[in-house]
Amino acid sequence: MARLGLIVRGVVQGVGFRPFVYRIARAHGLAGFVQNQRGRVAIEVQGERDALDAFLAELGAAEAPARVDEIVATEMPETDAEPFVIRSSEASSEVRATLPADLATCADCQREVATPGERRYRYPFTNCTRCGPRYSIVESLPYDRARTSMKGFALCAACAAEYANVADRRFHAQPIACPKCGPRIWLLDAAGVEVARDDAALDQAVRLLCSGRILALRGLGGFQLLCDATDDAAVQRLRERKRREQKPFALLFPDLSAVRAAAKLSFDEERALMGPEAPIVLLRRTPGARVAPAVAPDSPLIGVMLPYTPLHALLVEAAARALVCTSGNLSEEPMATDLDDALERLGAIADAFLTHDRPIVRPVDDSLVRLGPRGTAILRRARGFAPQPVAKIDAPVAVLALGAHMKGSIALCQRGEIILSQHLGDLESPSAVRLLERTIDDFLAFFDAKPDVVACDLHPDYASTRVAERIAGELGARICRVQHHHAHVAAVMAEHGIDDPVLGLAWDGTGFGSDGTVWGGEVLRVNAAGFERVAALRGFRLPGGDRAMREPRRSALGLVHAMDPERAEALAEEWFGERDGHVLSSMLAQEIGSPLTSSMGRLFDAVAALVDLGPRASFEGQIAMQLEHLAERGRGAPWPIPFEASNPLRLDWRPMLEALLSERDRGVDRADLAASFHASLAELALRVVGHFSPARVVLGGGCFQNRLLETATIELCEREGFSVLTPRTVPVNDGGIAVGQAWAAAHAAG
Ligand SMILES: [Zn+2]
Ligand SMILES: [Zn+2]
Ligand SMILES: [Zn+2]
Repeated sequence: MARLGLIVRGVVQGVGFRPFVYRIARAHGLAGFVQNQRGRVAIEVQGERDALDAFLAELGAAEAPARVDEIVATEMPETDAEPFVIRSSEASSEVRATLPADLATCADCQREVATPGERRYRYPFTNCTRCGPRYSIVESLPYDRARTSMKGFALCAACAAEYANVADRRFHAQPIACPKCGPRIWLLDAAGVEVARDDAALDQAVRLLCSGRILALRGLGGFQLLCDATDDAAVQRLRERKRREQKPFALLFPDLSAVRAAAKLSFDEERALMGPEAPIVLLRRTPGARVAPAVAPDSPLIGVMLPYTPLHALLVEAAARALVCTSGNLSEEPMATDLDDALERLGAIADAFLTHDRPIVRPVDDSLVRLGPRGTAILRRARGFAPQPVAKIDAPVAVLALGAHMKGSIALCQRGEIILSQHLGDLESPSAVRLLERTIDDFLAFFDAKPDVVACDLHPDYASTRVAERIAGELGARICRVQHHHAHVAAVMAEHGIDDPVLGLAWDGTGFGSDGTVWGGEVLRVNAAGFERVAALRGFRLPGGDRAMREPRRSALGLVHAMDPERAEALAEEWFGERDGHVLSSMLAQEIGSPLTSSMGRLFDAVAALVDLGPRASFEGQIAMQLEHLAERGRGAPWPIPFEASNPLRLDWRPMLEALLSERDRGVDRADLAASFHASLAELALRVVGHFSPARVVLGGGCFQNRLLETATIELCEREGFSVLTPRTVPVNDGGIAVGQAWAAAHAAG
């Protein structure tokens, strides 16, 4: 006989972990208890050694969505053997930090919904302790039904019995519901008039989708827009009405076999699709896939997800084809969550609304992942992942970090960890800024936070910077401005738990530099105390500043101008016509309205424009993505990018540009030019790393969303014996900036 005290960490709260522990403890005849504590679960078990060992083995192998990361066991004195019980959660603020993420329908619930005769047959809101809404319905903590948007639905007798039965898989499932007592669905026409309820609403919605109409669906974390993804005219119509020219749409597939018919699927990608987070996974589409071209113009990739609520499953299974499933908004505003808001904002887009009466407390977008050289990496962290911790940190202060401007998110550093919020979108609209402010309020309340420091970007004009200044005043906190690319590198260090010095390649779009110029092709030496800019791309000018983001030819003009002004002038006239071309040329010549930049993202744009990938981009990085896909089909040797001796070291792209232009003029294939460019950058990375010879290399910034560049850079550097770190759980793009700000500010204060 023995008694063990166990502390279990991982994903162990809000996922049915305590009933699981209860069942296996009882099965092995053990005495003791299990109890939720702040951010962990405490267990005491007493019994025969063999039974304890068997219990520990099963505990460690807890199935998704639960995940055991660590079990710390200590021997304890035996006590009277009481039967095993679930003790109520430890009172007070100790349990407040438990805020689970929304989880996709589990296999058991899927089976119930699909089985005629079951109480929940075809019920769109079926869930249990292992699945269903969480973060999107929580109003305050601790996480109990009375503090969720399910509070208005009184449990029927059958649901109440399941809720109270410790042996049931719905024991203490807070959003538990059934057709008798739970939320319902109904269908409205475009004018907002109800036309059907329940099953009839589903049937009609499916008929509309299959006849090319656009459906606004009130989903889990907000309204989404759906249409038939095999119908090019329907997809085009959605693009026009949503004013989204070319950015790819995510697709909802009925099941895995349908995905396999449309895209190549590796084991890791399949696992990501099927996981409880059920993110959108970027996959390579197979030729002849039944997907309309307008879904992802000019891209060999499609973003694919499987149904994560019974409502999505019922719709897409009945439609029996892939559906476009994109957030319900105009361009990049936050998603609509309320019906009235949706009718107003989406009335001109959708032909019908399928809605329900379970309020959505906060918008939560679909997450996005893709497989990289190191396994799946999260590019947009939202549903299923938020608001889980992303890093452990030993920090003397609490920090609230407000992120960047595009791909906004916030992070909170306190009590030994950094928690990252859901993706908040670009902070371009007043509604997006309001969402940022609401998320700050949420985090302060949920995590009982009292920040000593509010961290933000160095950019004075970011909306997040202005909010930070105001909030810091209100909270009486210090403000800490963290340079954008420093934050990119620090985010990766935070994820990997590294305080030792690293060499960070922060290759990115644009960020405000410490010297007031626009940075983006940076090599930084970073440690806990701060950073030093040791190398950067040679500067060039961007005529029209931010407009270059959507017009890659402006970047190309700036680049060519820095090498050969006359050639740039001719190019300006060719591309922009005599009048506009002349204006751009004189802006460059007189250095007016043409900020100096070292941006790698704009270098990508410039090269893409020079190999003639088109005059305009409908979203940032679009043309760089096209360049990557082009390069996959080509072969080419690297062009020279020598170092210019200076401090910081200047990476001189001019010989590369010269080689590019001369090969282009000789008629070398565009794909080979694109391949040479990628090879040049990977080779440049290796030479930079070799020059500084650091113990560790970190890759950060939006350019490393480019899988070809990331893979080649890692391979080259590792072949020479350098250790390279990339982020996987923190987005490599600006969605991860808040984590780096929190980390840098916490260390700066230490
Ligand atoms: Zn379930
Ligand atoms: Zn019920
Ligand atoms: Zn950035």
